[in-house]
Amino acid sequence: MTECIFCKIIEGTIPSVKIYEDENVFAFMDIMPVTKGHVLLIPKTHRENVYDLTEEEAAHLFSVAPKIANALKDEFKPAGLNLLQNNGAPAGQAVFHFHLHFIPRYDETDGFRPTFETKESESSTERIQEIAAQIRAKLEN
Ligand code: 5GP
Ligand code: ZN
Repeated sequence: MTECIFCKIIEGTIPSVKIYEDENVFAFMDIMPVTKGHVLLIPKTHRENVYDLTEEEAAHLFSVAPKIANALKDEFKPAGLNLLQNNGAPAGQAVFHFHLHFIPRYDETDGFRPTFETKESESSTERIQEIAAQIRAKLEN
């Protein structure tokens, strides 16, 4: 028996408010919506985070993202939309089954406050080049 709350939602052993389902993904309303229309999209196969998704699973899941985004856009006419995906507790992950948040944005006081503070020590051209070289080396492996 799985202990994963999102696996239980997929199985139907705990209730959810479904908006979309196909063979591989399931989308449902977040139980604690940050804004009107806050939706979660998950793979049906239990994967803890982005590191564990296969390329095929990721490709299919993200192919569904514009469909959901456009449904939210057409119905609620939000001023914007954030897609958010947390990996690991320090990144804000609370449920350890991969999920992509769709958070429609209505204005700057709608309750969702992502902030990007520039880290000065990472900002020089030399540092950015150095970090990019490290990432490229990994990607070439
Ligand atoms: P995380 O912080 O892991 O990125 O986001 C987890 C999300 O799952 C939260 O926004 C939270 O409200 C939502 N959530 C947690 N438990 C349940 C549940 O039982 N049902 C639904 N529909 N959403 C849940
Ligand atoms: Zn799961």
